[in-house]
Amino acid sequence: MNAVARFGPGHRILVTGGAGFVPSHLVDALMARGCTVVALDNFVTGSKENVAHLLDEPNFTLVEADISDGLPTHPALAERFDAILHMASPASPTDFEKLPVEILRVGSVATLHLLDRAVADGARFLMASTSEAYGDPKEHPQRESYWGNVNPIGIRSVYDEAKRFSEAAAMAYHRSRGLDTAIVRIFNTYGPRMRPDDGRAIPTFISQALRDEPITVHGTGNQTRSICYVSDLVRGILLLLDSRETGPINCGTEHEMSMRELAETIVSLTGSASEVTYITRSADDPEMRRPDLTLARELLGYEPTVAPEDGLRRTIEYFRERMV
Ligand code: NAD
Repeated sequence: MNAVARFGPGHRILVTGGAGFVPSHLVDALMARGCTVVALDNFVTGSKENVAHLLDEPNFTLVEADISDGLPTHPALAERFDAILHMASPASPTDFEKLPVEILRVGSVATLHLLDRAVADGARFLMASTSEAYGDPKEHPQRESYWGNVNPIGIRSVYDEAKRFSEAAAMAYHRSRGLDTAIVRIFNTYGPRMRPDDGRAIPTFISQALRDEPITVHGTGNQTRSICYVSDLVRGILLLLDSRETGPINCGTEHEMSMRELAETIVSLTGSASEVTYITRSADDPEMRRPDLTLARELLGYEPTVAPEDGLRRTIEYFRERMV
């Protein structure tokens, strides 16, 4: 377990997808440590607004580029990086249908470009993997040793298999090129800066509740997820970054909620007049999902701290402020 931050003032960090929901919070945390941060994004699902407050900071640069085309020529990318955090990827179920090839590319060719750069720079390479790597799991909760149950040709496969490829690539570079690799398997995370229309349950339910529209729960609503507030996830990712661990390591919370319970909690916290309704469920949507956090606890000293009601309240406030 590490007590001292490996990455701080004077260290240069590249964050791909840096204008996205989770990555922009990570960028904030790295900036707060005094790191020099280059965020690279093509804004396919992210927004400049998420990092607008950093644009005048001397040790922050936002580079607009598609990382699947390789690292662009840009002065901010000319110097070596101490760490490369590959966070770029569309990640919501609606993206799986709208951006299938883009998702496959950013989880394959982009990963290879970044791995080559990390080897050249002698940088630590951390990649955002996902609980989707477990597919529709037959083991519950999911431990890192579980290999998963993924339909390789289903709608979700572009995301699941790309992340699994990226994990395989990161491990291959670790074994064969001595790369300092870290893989975090992120479970459902929510918080401010999510897109209201991104198709994920929490922003959808909050937007519907704030408009007093019917809450559209998929299927019976008995399927469960463990939901993690973004500040807890960012702390876990930084603990992994600072460690010498390779992973994969799960990050999230063990607090499991059914979709029905989540919808009802959001209705109650918003004081909404919305009814909860049930619509067709998408194919291969996992029935249950909860991380086993033993490794994160033992190897990183990770412990999530934000209760779902608190995190949901903060997220609701963010959405309320932006409603027209
Ligand atoms: P997000 O869509 O808000 O962020 C992803 C960012 O990557 C966006 O800003 C997008 O514009 C950018 N991007 C996508 N393709 C790109 C490309 N080719 N070149 C440059 N930029 C590109 O999504 P998020 O939820 O913040 O997810 C961030 C990362 O965490 C993703 O890798 C995702 O797979 C992973 N993850 C998230 C969750 C979650 O619950 N939020 C769960 C598991 C894994």
